[in-house]
Parts: sequence; structure tokens; C-alpha cells
Amino acid sequence: MIAIELIKVKKKYPGCSVPAVDNLSLAVEKGEIMTILGPSGCGKTTTLRLIAGFERPDGGTIALAGRTVTGPGQWVPPEKRKVGMVFQDYALFPHLSVEENIALGPPGENRKEKADEMAALVNLAGLEKRYPHELSGGQQQRVALGRALAGNPVVVLLDEPFSNLDTDLRNHMRREVTKIIKAAGTTAVFVTHDLKDALAVSDRVAVIRDGRLEQVGTPVDIYRHPETEFVAAFVGKSTILEGEIGPDHCSVKTAIGMIPCGHTHNLPAGRPVKVSIRPDSFEQDTEGDIRGIIRETTYGGNEIEALLEAHTGNGPVNLQVHIHPEENVREGTELRFHVLPEFVAVIDS
Ligand code: ADP
Ligand code: MG
Repeated sequence: MIAIELIKVKKKYPGCSVPAVDNLSLAVEKGEIMTILGPSGCGKTTTLRLIAGFERPDGGTIALAGRTVTGPGQWVPPEKRKVGMVFQDYALFPHLSVEENIALGPPGENRKEKADEMAALVNLAGLEKRYPHELSGGQQQRVALGRALAGNPVVVLLDEPFSNLDTDLRNHMRREVTKIIKAAGTTAVFVTHDLKDALAVSDRVAVIRDGRLEQVGTPVDIYRHPETEFVAAFVGKSTILEGEIGPDHCSVKTAIGMIPCGHTHNLPAGRPVKVSIRPDSFEQDTEGDIRGIIRETTYGGNEIEALLEAHTGNGPVNLQVHIHPEENVREGTELRFHVLPEFVAVIDS
């Protein structure tokens, strides 16, 4: 069953030359956690506000749990949509306690019981009487989440929920928030510009650029099989090379030789394509056919990110590679590599 369906949704703010959301179609399954991932200004917050009913689109339809809430001649106001929202700054009332803040979520009777039940679900039992300033960032976030879930929403929307947290707490809250949402059995849409957030919390990720959908898939899918150059570059590091499909249909002929690929989308041999190669695919090999000079290195603890200036018949080509830190490689060292097909994707341009 589909919990949220956007069909060709469009939103252009007055005075802006380009739409903030441009013909966006996206379906979120019931119980699914979907993340909208994209750079700042690509239309993520606008998309959430359109789903919640805080903005009216210029075109397209939005349905929640099978009911059209926005469409030609149709409009359901925000308070009737059964949408829970967690704002980027949590938007807690400073003069209200934890339980009073949470009790703002559910409408009608039994607010207090529901608020206590929610406080327990978001692991705040015992802290019901505290005020927001007496809570840590992670606890404040759980209050906001408790409030959003307390109204039994069809869907909960979270705008950059981890951006105000430091690294340790961020890792912890990614797990915590995902667990709470799954325990509540709610459908959720997260919005983030942070790749790690998206890969960590999502069942599926929708990558957005300039208000348009670039690709939607599982975290593994979008990392391993980017379908566009933008996704390849935004979802981690990647080297993009031009080439053509090889005669065996499972490789691409490029300036650095034949690159093995997992799948080539049944494209015909000789077809001009691009190929995205994640650094994970370059394996150091003293016998490897790809050889070059290490030009830039960035120490990352368990691995070193490096730029390899590879020698080819037609001059140097820059490749993004990983090196083991034990190797003690310096800039200027010559190294050899071969390519594993696991993190290679064909981009049909
Ligand atoms: P994101 O959340 O991905 O950073 P937004 O949805 O906030 O992006 O914004 C998308 C685009 O729409 C941006 O270019 C932004 O400047 C513009 N925009 C957002 N809100 C408004 C508004 N209320 N009025 C005019 N332009 C807006
Ligand atoms: Mg935003």
C-alpha cells in the first residue's frame, strides 16, 4: 500500500525564475523510511511543506494513504492531513514541559495518557516534567518526535533532523530515531543534504537536484549503481570516464583500459557511455594494468583517499582511489591498481 504519492508536483515561488520543485513524482510505501537527499536549495524543505499542506503547489497531485489532499480543485488543510512534522530546530515550546509539549500532538481526549505513552516510546519516561532547556539536544529531538508521532499520523516528516547534533550524538540518534519510527509502524520522509544520514536511516533514498528527481533506490542501489553523473558524484566519490560498451557486453572500453562492470543494461557493444568507478573498486596490485603517480592524499583513519594520476596512451587521467594507511604512501609514489566490477556503474548518457 502506498502512503504518500506525489504525481508531477510543481512549485514555483513568486519572483523566482526556476521552480523549487519541478514535476516531482514519488511514491512512498506504507511503513517505509524514505529520505530525500540533495544539495542545499534543491527543494527538499519545499517538498515537505507541500506534503504537509503548508504550501500550495502550482500543479500536480499529492495523495496521503490513498486520499488526494492536493490536486485540481482539491485541498485538504494541514490540520486535517494527519501529518506529523519534526522541524529542523525542533520548535519546542520553552514554557511547556516534556509531557505538555508532547500533548500538543494528539487531538481530542486522552491527551495526557497518549503523551505518557509517547514519552515512553521515545525513551523519555521519568523526564516528563522537565522543560526543554533541561534536556540535551538528543532528548529535545525525541520530544519533537514524540509530539509528531502522538497524533497517530499517516506519515511523519523530518527536516534535517540530525543537523544540529554533534558527530557522536548524531550516530546515536540516527539509530534511535529509526528504531522509534519502526516501532511506531509509521511511514516517514526524512530530508537531508548529508549522505551519511541518508545511507544510515533509509529504506530508500530519492536523490533530488534542482527540484527534479535524479534517482530513487535503496542505499546500496544508489551507491553501487548510480544512474546519472550527479548521483555518482553526490553519493560518495567517483571517477567518471567516457568509453564504449565492450564486445563481451560486461565491460567498458576506456582510456585506462577495459573496465569490468556488474551489468551494462543490455546496451549494444560499441555504444558510447560513461562509467562511474567508486574508489572501492580500485584495488592495489603490483601487477595491475593501471599505473600512475599519487598526487593528493587525505588521511581518513581506516583509509587514505587519494588522487592517482594514471598514465595512458593519451596523457594522464585522474582517478579517485583508496589506499591502506599501513602502506605509508607519499605523494609522488608510483602505484599500480586493477579494477573490481562491484562498484562500477554504466551511465547511459
Ligand atoms: P532545500 O530545503 O533543499 O535547501 P528549499 O526547498 O528550502 O531547499 O528551497 C528551494 C528553492 O526555493 C531555493 O532556491 C530557495 O531559495 C527557494 N525558496 C524557498 N522558500 C522560498 C520562499 N518562501 N520564497 C521564495 N523562494 C523560496
Ligand atoms: Mg531545507
